[in-house]
Amino acid sequence: MSPDDLKSRLREEAAKLGFEAVGFAPVPAELRREYYLKWIAEGCHGSMDWMERNCDRRLHPVNILPEAKSIVVLGLNYYQQHPESAYRVAKYALGKDYHDFLYKRLKSLCAVMRELGGEQKPYVDTGPVLEKPLAELAGMGWQGKSTILIHRPLGTWLFLGVVFTTLDLPPDAPAKNLCGACTRCLDACPTKAITGPYRLDARRCISYLTIEHDGPIPEEFHHAIGDRVYGCDTCLDVCPWNKWAALTREERLLARPLPALRDTLAWTPEEFTAHFAGSPVKRLKLHRWLRNALVVLGNTGDAVELPAVEALRTHADPMVAWHAERAAERIRSRRPAK
Ligand code: SF4
Ligand code: SF4
Repeated sequence: MSPDDLKSRLREEAAKLGFEAVGFAPVPAELRREYYLKWIAEGCHGSMDWMERNCDRRLHPVNILPEAKSIVVLGLNYYQQHPESAYRVAKYALGKDYHDFLYKRLKSLCAVMRELGGEQKPYVDTGPVLEKPLAELAGMGWQGKSTILIHRPLGTWLFLGVVFTTLDLPPDAPAKNLCGACTRCLDACPTKAITGPYRLDARRCISYLTIEHDGPIPEEFHHAIGDRVYGCDTCLDVCPWNKWAALTREERLLARPLPALRDTLAWTPEEFTAHFAGSPVKRLKLHRWLRNALVVLGNTGDAVELPAVEALRTHADPMVAWHAERAAERIRSRRPAK
């Protein structure tokens, strides 16, 4: 089979497996090294220490699978509108966790590639792999000023999977950067976490603060977090290249009912785990869910919510107790004077 026929066959197999986007890249000796090391040196990765490790592979993909000749990048559309709710959860986390089923599909593709004579290494959000720059290299789109990958016509709503392979596959042409003079994502970011075009300071980003960060959320960000309990989609929502975004075909990604925030304040750890079984939200664990819920209730809650918020001021976890105090103060400050 010629390299071009191999590529066509893999495109067909990927489509059968439900992937809406596929791109092929050479294996770069070096990837975003200077940019990445500067970003780490400036501390923009916050407490995500794992990003400092394995740079010999992360920034030098040739070291991942030394015999690899090509990289296949696959994209799956997860777009849906946010359901009517008193608070927001990032769209990717409204339904079931994507990691398991995406990885299984990559493994299925790898099985086909093995029959075609290749040796493969697949990755979904794991391992030292910079998915977005690799997707850009594979012609799937461009990394916009928000640093998110933009695909035409799917927009910014793609889960990415990456397969390193020993198969020799002709690379796709790189996509053109079409951000132009647009600055919508920079202007809309509630915490000014996009500190300049293509520069994201995770320490200011609501996605980092509400998901990755494991400690109190600094008070300077409480107001800006608004009604976002888990993650933030604002820089994606405003991107004009999302105007053709279409509803995901994956039913398991569709939103499950969101519980009333006030009710969740009384949850036990077991109730939290049972409610979010199979959801990406589960990784927060109850203490961080309560932290985030209290920030949001501090912004949006009223007298009805106040007793449940105040009850957590004596919580055994000092972080939860501190957030309950702050939230109660904010709610009380909005109550009309008698
Ligand atoms: S996810 Fe939200 S907070 Fe983070 S950069 Fe985008 S708009 Fe800003
Ligand atoms: S909002 Fe505008 S500047 Fe930001 S990524 Fe989208 S097109 Fe680029």
